[in-house]
Amino acid sequence: MPSEEQLAAERIERLQALAKAATSAGETDRARAYVRRARRVAERNRLSLPPEFKRFTCDRCDAYLQPGVNARVRTRDGHVVVTCDCGGHARYPY
Ligand SMILES: [Zn+2]
Repeated sequence: MPSEEQLAAERIERLQALAKAATSAGETDRARAYVRRARRVAERNRLSLPPEFKRFTCDRCDAYLQPGVNARVRTRDGHVVVTCDCGGHARYPY
């Protein structure tokens, strides 16, 4: 039997995939709902979100960021900066 923690991690992965697909389909509000749900699952289970999740979600509006759809990507001073349409940023080193 998988542990609670494993199940929660799988759930987060699934929600991330759904958020990605919703964004590709132009359903950004639905994508936000998935992002929020994934954040809640992580919190409740005291899991940290996967790095890819953090990179591609906007902290300001919970959007799932897809470069070319609702985000722009720039590299700057050793960092990748993903800018959301709302003006929020996700930043990470490369
Ligand atoms: Zn945003």
